[in-house]
Amino acid sequence: MKISEIMKQRMIFSFEVFPPKKDQPMDYLLDTLKHLYVFNPDFISCTYGAGGTNAGRNIEVCRAIKKSGRTVPVAHFTCIGNSMENIRKSLQIYLNMGIDHVLALRGDFPKGWKGTMGDFNYANELVAFIRKNFPEFCIAVAGNPEKHFQANSFEEDIAHLRVKQDSGADYIMTQLCHDVDQYEWWVEKIRKAGISLPIDVGIMPALSKDSIIRMTVSNGSSIPRELAEIIARYGDNPEDFKKAGKEYTIKQMYRFIDAGINGLHIYSLNRWKDVSDILNESGIMGFK
Ligand code: FAD
Repeated sequence: MKISEIMKQRMIFSFEVFPPKKDQPMDYLLDTLKHLYVFNPDFISCTYGAGGTNAGRNIEVCRAIKKSGRTVPVAHFTCIGNSMENIRKSLQIYLNMGIDHVLALRGDFPKGWKGTMGDFNYANELVAFIRKNFPEFCIAVAGNPEKHFQANSFEEDIAHLRVKQDSGADYIMTQLCHDVDQYEWWVEKIRKAGISLPIDVGIMPALSKDSIIRMTVSNGSSIPRELAEIIARYGDNPEDFKKAGKEYTIKQMYRFIDAGINGLHIYSLNRWKDVSDILNESGIMGFK
């Protein structure tokens, strides 16, 4: 059954991993996957490097997940530097391997780029292309509860999200957002705008001061006071920060579940030991 179909019946649970660098072996990632399967994820998604870097590795990781038979692989895919012909070929490769779930993204521009330098400028064009040429795919798209950082207004950004729905998207995966009140506000706004897609909420574990600050602000997301206080109190002590950050992450997972989401998606950062600690402590073993 497609992920979007499952989301109509119950809440789903999933992880994101990223591929090893080009010249690195797959062993650590394969080990990470094994440890993540224990938590019964409905899917594991794999990121796609900016500018198509490491695209081959994305396929390799998705193939390993598929081969395991333990869960569904979801391939992130971007428009950056991608011609229509290359997109057609790549999507066919996924399908030939039995991979029929994709997260269709525009992608972030690599340094110095002003556009995608590919045949599609926005994610909605990629969604429409996939829907028309490869109807087998279940298509996820990105949503930004705090507004995409390049959009001039929420209205504009939500209108663009609506176009992705109308182009054939099946569900939304959110950008990291620590602010549950803001998330609920955004959901109300998008529902009013006629967007009815189920929403899979991304949770970024707070494991180290520098990385949580960098990843949050680089997406244009905000740091709520509660997290700011943890940064201020424990920022100089990595061990104490990690302990408080894990507790904060567990609270956040339950706050989002209480807000009535359709899916919980953990950005694992490939840090399976820390993620396992968080999940074991939280008692969440998937929702199957
Ligand atoms: P779009 O939906 O195209 O939106 C981009 C901007 O353009 C927005 O400001 C939007 O309002 C505006 N816009 C959209 N459509 C139009 C239109 N038709 N006309 C005018 N303006 C428009 N990036 C990677 O490179 N690799 C990854 O693996 C990856 N994984 C991600 C996973 C998740 C869950 C999320 C949420 C994001 C991920 N990203 C990844 C980041 C993503 O590529 C960036 O956020 C990127 O800047 C925007 O992608 P998008 O698909 O939301 O773009």
